[in-house]
Amino acid sequence: MSHASDLCVDGERLWTSLMAMAEIGATPAGGCNRLALSDLDRVGRDLFGVWYRAAGLAVRVDRMGNLFARRPGRDPERPPILMGSHLDTQPTGGKFDGVYGVLAGLEVVRTLNDADVETEGPVEVVVWTNEEGARFAPAMIGSGVWAGVFTLDEAHAARDADGLRFGDELARIGYLGDEEARAFPVHGAFEAHIEQGPVLEDETQQIGVVTGVQGMRWYDLCLSGEACHAGTTPMAARRDPARSAAEVISAFYDGLERFGEDARGTIGVLASEPESRNTVPGEVSASVDLRHPDPATLDAMEGALRELMDTTCRARGTTGTLERVWDSPPIVFDADCVAAVRGAAAACGYRHRDIVSGAGHDSVYVSRVAPAAMIFVPCLGGLSHNEAESATRADLEAGGNVLLGAVLARDATPPA
Ligand SMILES: [Zn+2]
Repeated sequence: MSHASDLCVDGERLWTSLMAMAEIGATPAGGCNRLALSDLDRVGRDLFGVWYRAAGLAVRVDRMGNLFARRPGRDPERPPILMGSHLDTQPTGGKFDGVYGVLAGLEVVRTLNDADVETEGPVEVVVWTNEEGARFAPAMIGSGVWAGVFTLDEAHAARDADGLRFGDELARIGYLGDEEARAFPVHGAFEAHIEQGPVLEDETQQIGVVTGVQGMRWYDLCLSGEACHAGTTPMAARRDPARSAAEVISAFYDGLERFGEDARGTIGVLASEPESRNTVPGEVSASVDLRHPDPATLDAMEGALRELMDTTCRARGTTGTLERVWDSPPIVFDADCVAAVRGAAAACGYRHRDIVSGAGHDSVYVSRVAPAAMIFVPCLGGLSHNEAESATRADLEAGGNVLLGAVLARDATPPA
């Protein structure tokens, strides 16, 4: 039996497992297409099953198809520590998004097995169902139902583009389990993931200590004026919402800077009515996506946009509405779990920094009902949701070692 503090994961074994999983649904461009509850999702889960059985783990499957593969500890009654993420991908996804978090968890278990380490409490490798939301909306529905954000019935009733029901597809691939899909006591939950952004790579950091997930808000912006003839109406006589939109959007982007480098604003959709080449439009609508880790700053960003809209509309004789259609508040991860990640990165001597996640993850919902944190590793060019998604063996191994260290540190802390 070795000293747990001297343990290191086997980076080569982790890489080999990642590459074996990547063969399931491999695309010609080097990515993965393993949509949730497809035949390929089943094959991927089955392969994971071969591995967790070989590692001696006992699995529970809940009614959402979430998998919990358990390695017992000295005290089987103690709430487990969870390590995991998702195995489903985007239709043109990569090899690492989600899969890395699951297989890094498996690698931690294999490492503990090899060294014959008995933890105080159980550790469990988790696979959350349908994180991507590419086939069944919404995203993160497996962890969402588990955390009580959605009901089981809502989730099972979700349909894909072909009209197939989530519940039917889950049963069809053989992963409709009999455990209730409901949160149980958890001592800590750790999700390793590629960053899906460029910050760590740009700074040549090896590890991102994820302190939380930024808030996201979606709006519908609608500007109205008067449709009229493009040839006969003098410029000064127009009430043109396209002109208002151009001014609002331009000033909106210019003004984002003063909310700091963490502020994000995106106009993703722009549409006009009646969409005719020789008619000044009567209405222009746009989607607005605002993101920031601090809710007060999000409020200020929203306020600034509203004021811009009002001032511009007054000057141009148009009218505007800004309706908030979705609000995902910022998440702050558990301070002790974050400290365990930071401590493990420091103990391994890895270059690391604190970082706020720009994307949603299963940990957003898990953190509502359990102490949670995440570990980021760099990915090439910050690219993700893309077949060219890539990460280095060394960085993936580093993330595995941080996961191992964080889990052991958490395990050494008795549950409150
Ligand atoms: Zn993911």
